[in-house]
Amino acid sequence: MKRTPLESWVSDKIGKGKDPLTRERIEHHQRLMLQETLAWARAKSSFYRRRLAGLSERALSGRQEFCRIPFTTAEDIRQNPLHFLCVSQSEINRVVTLHTSGTTGLPKRIYFTREDQELTVDFFHRGMSTLVGPGERVLILLPGERPGSVGDLLAAGLQRLGASSVVYGPVQDYAQALEVMVMEGFDALVGIPVQVLALARQSRGRAAPRSVLLSTDYVPDSIKKELHLIWGCEIYTHYGMTEMGFGGGVDCEARQGYHMREADLLFEVVDPKTGASLEEGEAGEVVFTTLTRLGMPLIRYRTGDLSRFLPEQCPCGTVLKTMAPVRGRIAGRMDLEPGIVLTIEDLDEALFPICNLIDFSAELTWEEDLNHLEIRATFPEGSGKHETESIHRALKGIPVLRSSIREARLKVRVTVREGNPSKLNGSVKRTITDKRNSGVV
Ligand SMILES: [Zn+2]
Repeated sequence: MKRTPLESWVSDKIGKGKDPLTRERIEHHQRLMLQETLAWARAKSSFYRRRLAGLSERALSGRQEFCRIPFTTAEDIRQNPLHFLCVSQSEINRVVTLHTSGTTGLPKRIYFTREDQELTVDFFHRGMSTLVGPGERVLILLPGERPGSVGDLLAAGLQRLGASSVVYGPVQDYAQALEVMVMEGFDALVGIPVQVLALARQSRGRAAPRSVLLSTDYVPDSIKKELHLIWGCEIYTHYGMTEMGFGGGVDCEARQGYHMREADLLFEVVDPKTGASLEEGEAGEVVFTTLTRLGMPLIRYRTGDLSRFLPEQCPCGTVLKTMAPVRGRIAGRMDLEPGIVLTIEDLDEALFPICNLIDFSAELTWEEDLNHLEIRATFPEGSGKHETESIHRALKGIPVLRSSIREARLKVRVTVREGNPSKLNGSVKRTITDKRNSGVV
């Protein structure tokens, strides 16, 4: 088994001659870079000048002291993203605006300098060598129209690797995307899990790439299994978000979890309720600190994603840490009754194995003193008459729903749309929409 190429990359970036890479070397590097980041952010960003006031540089040198630094949240960025800037706006090369749900409804803006973007291209170059080699062709189904967008940076990384790519963008028209795949023949494909599954289902096994990298959202096991069944391809997953500079970590050939960009990012896992730092192996919320970003460094940024570090060494033999596949987001967990929590992962794992299902949305409402769960599912036209029944059956198979449905404490409505799948937009971050307290029913 090939060792993750990220290991030699991290070693090169830390750059201490030919000494073998060890945890000590990585952690020493991270401590130094953290000191630099804290000093830079405090000197240049008005947000961190206020946020870190009163914490002496010396006091921030140990792990315990580090854990006392307040978290940065998505809401902090939404409130005033310009206060995070450490350079003048003229030095910003790319602004990404994220229209995500937040309590204020404000968009989130993330700023990158040219140097920050170079870090991402470099990561994509070395990370993609896990699954792609020189001379191979890659279809990119991620946004890539604008310079500095994720698809554009990925294409630049692949070029350095000697691979060529077509930046197609998120799929709007499945028939057309398939035609491109059949005509051009790709060795690998990078895309959003739900979209790639829909594409594979439409393909009926044609145009199978050798490997697929799923990115942008957490990846349900059901989607991996279905993809493997249809295309027989190797499936890798990537973990990242715009705030990380698009890339965070990627599977190796062992595919037990992601190896992380440890020279650029410092990851922690914390208790989502108390914020306490958790030990290796314990599951909680992923938090990261940028170590090399100039324009908009982020310190202890709460991702809202749930995962844990695997304590055992990866079979590929690397000294890099392995993060278990992200199991969804805190925002995707819904309290139905005391002690009964429904997650989008429960729904994804139960519903995606249903033959031909292209996508679905889930919404909770509170009507007549009862929880109502509405599933709106999309199937290709003419796929049969049994879809509603299949969804009801699959929902009853979810352990947390079984008794609630049987004892009529939860009402389920299923709407099936037999639409033209070619006009669908893939949902990026999967979640259950909760309208129980919004007054909107
Ligand atoms: Zn590995």
